[in-house]
Amino acid sequence: MTGSGSKVKGRRQGLTSILLIAALLLGGLLGWAGIQAYANAHPGHLVIITDSEGMTYELPLDRDAQQVITTPLGTNTVVVEGGRVHIEEADCPGQDCVEHDSISNAGETIICLPNQLVVTISAGDSSVDGVLNTDDSNAPASDFDTIAR
Ligand SMILES: [Zn+2]
Repeated sequence: MTGSGSKVKGRRQGLTSILLIAALLLGGLLGWAGIQAYANAHPGHLVIITDSEGMTYELPLDRDAQQVITTPLGTNTVVVEGGRVHIEEADCPGQDCVEHDSISNAGETIICLPNQLVVTISAGDSSVDGVLNTDDSNAPASDFDTIAR
């Protein structure tokens, strides 16, 4: 903040000024906290991609990246961006995986059934809560020992 140069005189104006400064400080603090919360949202989280061949790819969630996975069943482009993961492109017929919301929390999963591709987020240590957050249309509940939504 650069000073505007306006000198505040009088008790009332002084109080207003103090409140204004307090508000600004609070706003700055909240903004800072928000940035910190975002930056530290998921330290150490990993994006785990498993394809139909049994190949596993691991990407850090906090680093933007793009991974193209091609198997005999098809191709999926997985994108990590701003701490979230989504499937940018796929050649599967339904496109459910492409339309799926991006995921960012440990335990969340995007599945491409036709290409047998599974993208999930691991906490990296222990705190996977086992909640599967997928569309009803592409949730193969029987394949996973977890709770669908
Ligand atoms: Zn798909």
